[in-house]
Amino acid sequence: MSLLVVGTVAFDAIETPFGKTDKILGGAATYISLAASYFTKNINLVSVVGEDFPAANIEMLQKHNVNTDGLQVLKGQKTFFWAGKYHNDMNTRDTITTELNVLETFNPVVPEAYQDCEFLMLGNLMPKVQQQVLSQLKSRPKLIVLDTMNFWMDIAMPELMETLKQIDVLTINDSEARQLSGEYSLVKAAQKILAMGPKYLIIKKGEHGALLFNKEQVFFAPALPLEDVFDPTGAGDSFAGGFIGYIAATKDISFENMKRAIIFGSATASFCVEKFGTENLVGLTQEEVDARVQEFVDLVQFDIALV
Ligand code: AMP
Repeated sequence: MSLLVVGTVAFDAIETPFGKTDKILGGAATYISLAASYFTKNINLVSVVGEDFPAANIEMLQKHNVNTDGLQVLKGQKTFFWAGKYHNDMNTRDTITTELNVLETFNPVVPEAYQDCEFLMLGNLMPKVQQQVLSQLKSRPKLIVLDTMNFWMDIAMPELMETLKQIDVLTINDSEARQLSGEYSLVKAAQKILAMGPKYLIIKKGEHGALLFNKEQVFFAPALPLEDVFDPTGAGDSFAGGFIGYIAATKDISFENMKRAIIFGSATASFCVEKFGTENLVGLTQEEVDARVQEFVDLVQFDIALV
């Protein structure tokens, strides 16, 4: 039984108030897989890269227990490239370039050995491709989580709406929740989005934490107040990876366990933003992850005696 991760494996060029990178390793599925690898050892990746993608990056993923049999390497083609620039508040960014390259004709193939997947993380990708993966699975996973972004809402809303009908958990940020629902209030937005299909909605609010909704309940998890945030790229994906990785490890899809999973997701996201790109996510120890989760527990634990 395993976790199937679908999403981009990319080159990113990032500019923040603290510095600038040239093309470095990025992509939603990269961050998700690395983050999930701290919780579960059986990760299967479906994605695509071009001939320009270094073999060392694939080996690094394999060292994190990521099975790359479903990673297509297309001869004579270029890897997906994204460039972004963060504003001074580090909570908002502009996309400077999105070069789809190999994604333009991406035809995902789920290898036979991946068919036993119990948990599915559909990382940020064109909704049509997310749907193609769903349609190749012979049995429905126990939990399907989907992440998407404004880019796909702008250019592929009808396909996204179709995909939303087939999933269990949607993760988006606050401005995307407002765009998708047409509501400013996140509580109203959540109710509208839950009516579109997902049973659970996670709204990420950057340094202001995350909200988990179902139709009856809501839970809030803070983000860890960090001294230095160098690069928020991949925070949402690391959050999703920690979340689904913990669910896959515990095999418990109750609302109560999702609350715990959100804390693990927030912990992995907090590591991600401390350095550029995937740098911090490649070499964490179990002790560091455990200590970080404990910081979250200490941050929100308090006793109140109501009289
Ligand atoms: P996040 O900061 O969590 O939103 O994720 C950033 C990652 O998403 C980067 O590593 C990019 O390569 C990837 N990315 C950016 N734009 C897209 C897109 N339109 N579709 C899929 N992945 C994207």
